[in-house]
Amino acid sequence: MADYTFAFQTSTTHAGFLKAPSLEASPDAPYVIAGIPWDGCVTNRPGTRFGPYEIRRSSHMLCDGTHTLWPVSPLGHIADAGDLTLPNTSLERMREALMPQASALLAKHHMVWLGGDHSITLPLLRAYRAHHGRPLAIVHFDAHCDTWTDHFGEPSGHGTWVHEAISEGLIDPRLTVQVGIRSSAEKSTAEYVRDRGGLIYTSRDLRGLVNRTQLQSVIDEVRTRLAGEPVYLTLDIDCLDPAYAPGTGTPEPGGMSSSQVLTLLEEWVDLNWIGMDLSEVSPPYDHAQLTSNAAAHFVWTYLCGRVRG
Ligand code: MN
Ligand code: MN
Repeated sequence: MADYTFAFQTSTTHAGFLKAPSLEASPDAPYVIAGIPWDGCVTNRPGTRFGPYEIRRSSHMLCDGTHTLWPVSPLGHIADAGDLTLPNTSLERMREALMPQASALLAKHHMVWLGGDHSITLPLLRAYRAHHGRPLAIVHFDAHCDTWTDHFGEPSGHGTWVHEAISEGLIDPRLTVQVGIRSSAEKSTAEYVRDRGGLIYTSRDLRGLVNRTQLQSVIDEVRTRLAGEPVYLTLDIDCLDPAYAPGTGTPEPGGMSSSQVLTLLEEWVDLNWIGMDLSEVSPPYDHAQLTSNAAAHFVWTYLCGRVRG
C-alpha cells in the first residue's frame, strides 16, 4: 500500500481518543474509533483534515471519570484504530481506499468515525448498507440539508450525500431524520427529505426547546419512528451555532446549542444505534478548542450511552 502518511495524519502518532489503547494492542475491543482526515470536498473554508487529531486531543480531558447521567466510562470498551490510510488526491481515489478499510472495521466493531468533511459519510453508508443488507435509518444533525444534486458542477461532494444515499437505497427516506437544518437552499432541496416521507426539525422549529420537557414531542416522534430500526448517527458539528462551534468550514448563525444536542443524544440513547460519524470540525478556525471539545463530548456521550449496560 502506498504511504499516504503526510504531516496532517498526525493522529496516529499521538494518544488515541480518551487515551484508549490502539487497535493493535486491543484487537477485540467492541467499540473502535477511526479518523478520516479528508477535506477535499469542502466548499468554503478547508481544514477538516486536522479534525481527527484535534478531537482526540480534546477528548483527553474526559478520560478521568464517569458520565454524569450514566455512571460509566467508555474506557475498557474502546480502542483507537488511528486514521485510515487515504490519498489526498481525488474524491474517487479517497473513497476507493476508504471502502475496504471501513468495511473490515465495521464488520468486526461498533465504529465511531472522526471526520473529515461530510463527503466521508456516503462511502461509510455504502459499507453499512452492504453489511446490514438493507436500507438504514439515519439521524442527521446539520445546519445543511446535504441534499444538493450537484457539487458545483461535480456529481458528489460534502453537500450531496443525503440525496445520493437515498437515490442509491442506502438509507430509507421514511427513516431519515434531519435536525438543526437552517442554511439557505431552494425549497425542493431544503424539503427533499420531508417530500420523501422523512422528518426535518429545522433550528427554527427547535428555538427555545432545550431540556427534555421542552423537546418531548421531538424526542417521542423520532423514537416512535425509528424504534427497532438499525440507526446510523451522522453529526455535522455545524449543527451547532457558531458561538458553540466556530471551528467549521461553513458556519451558519442561528444554530443549536450544545445542551440541545446533548438532550437529544441522551434521550435517544435506547435507539438501535449501529455506528456514528462526526464531521466538519476544522481546527484552523477554532478558538480555545471550543469546537473540538464539543465534538469530543458528543462522541464521549454516544459511547457512554452504548456501554451503560
Ligand atoms: Mn453536512
Ligand atoms: Mn453542515
